[in-house]
Amino acid sequence: MATAGTLPPRTDTDALTARDLYRFYRAGEEETLALRGVALQVRRGETVAVIGPSGSGKSTLLACLAGLDEPDGGVVHVAGERISHRPEAERARVRAHRIGVLLQSGNLIAHLDVHANIRLARTAAPRASKQPIAELLDQVGLGHRGRALPQQLAGGELARAGLAVALANDPDILLADEPTGELDGVTEQRILSLLRSRAEAGRGVLVVTHSPEAVKIADRVITLRDGRIPS
Ligand code: ADP
Ligand code: MG
Repeated sequence: MATAGTLPPRTDTDALTARDLYRFYRAGEEETLALRGVALQVRRGETVAVIGPSGSGKSTLLACLAGLDEPDGGVVHVAGERISHRPEAERARVRAHRIGVLLQSGNLIAHLDVHANIRLARTAAPRASKQPIAELLDQVGLGHRGRALPQQLAGGELARAGLAVALANDPDILLADEPTGELDGVTEQRILSLLRSRAEAGRGVLVVTHSPEAVKIADRVITLRDGRIPS
């Protein structure tokens, strides 16, 4: 059993599993069924792409998988540890230790430069990567931008800085919403090969994407439609 503040060691379990996920939004009389019984699995070493039309529930799914949102039904495990239906502080701990999240809204603290954002992500992760921050920045093509504040970065740079922060804790699973949405072709290839190398190192990668290039590097593609994965 894990005690507060510690985690069991890495195991051979899947990087991520989700069963029977439901998420309803209610605004007055209006009810939106954003997720209607989604099940998925990301094995260690696997890259999974999630595609689907706008409004199909992709971002909702990502938020539930990351423990940023609580599903109304179903269960999510990360590296064998349950993250759904637990108190906020426990979800935050599992996320800090085991998950890298890159949302479309970004994940950078505005008043910290890129380097400090990465350092901060590591302070919450005792098992954080020993990889030098400069090397991580080089991998996302931002070797020269470590001292820049988020507001000083262009859209594509911001996305790459966000990815560096998401990878700062060497996560068991990377969850990324459109990580290459704003990138030119060359930079996109560079980021995709970084994601591949994460998977080859035995981690799980799940990307929500519209990019055919990103779909190409995936081991598996999951299509979401009206909150379901059609069989
Ligand atoms: P996608 O990322 O695939 O475009 P979303 O997960 O953002 O889809 O949205 C799925 C559905 O849930 C949409 O109908 C959207 O309008 C609705 N939705 C998402 N977030 C909320 C929210 N906070 N409140 C109400 N409805 C929401
Ligand atoms: Mg979305």
